[in-house]
Amino acid sequence: MTCTTHNNHEHKHSTGCGHKGIKHEDHIDYLHEDHLHHMHGDHVDEHSLSQSNQNKSTCTPEHKCSTHEASHKHGIGCGHEAVPHDNHVDYLVGEHLHHPCNDHCDHHGYVAIA
Ligand SMILES: [Zn+2]
Ligand SMILES: [Zn+2]
Ligand SMILES: [Zn+2]
Ligand SMILES: [Zn+2]
Ligand SMILES: [Zn+2]
Ligand SMILES: [Zn+2]
Ligand SMILES: [Zn+2]
Repeated sequence: MTCTTHNNHEHKHSTGCGHKGIKHEDHIDYLHEDHLHHMHGDHVDEHSLSQSNQNKSTCTPEHKCSTHEASHKHGIGCGHEAVPHDNHVDYLVGEHLHHPCNDHCDHHGYVAIA
């Protein structure tokens, strides 16, 4: 994983810092500003979940989810936290990822909330 540094990030993420932590490979990242932040020494890296068996970037039109109204459109400020995945942005709904797709949400797999 390359080290992409988030500029001028004063806040230090840690357990109980107020941001949601999710397990990513062998570490914990924090959801902040629509990014996946990883504390790396004295700076913050931007992480993105990769495509994997657990988190597949597939279209799942059959996914019927009762966690939000069918008419809900995910986007900035929709109330769900954005999670970078592969080369797109998903939204965390409960413990799984939704990707807005035409008239439905794709299910991009589960994440482990730390
Ligand atoms: Zn934090
Ligand atoms: Zn990470
Ligand atoms: Zn960032
Ligand atoms: Zn789809
Ligand atoms: Zn769902
Ligand atoms: Zn939403
Ligand atoms: Zn996704």
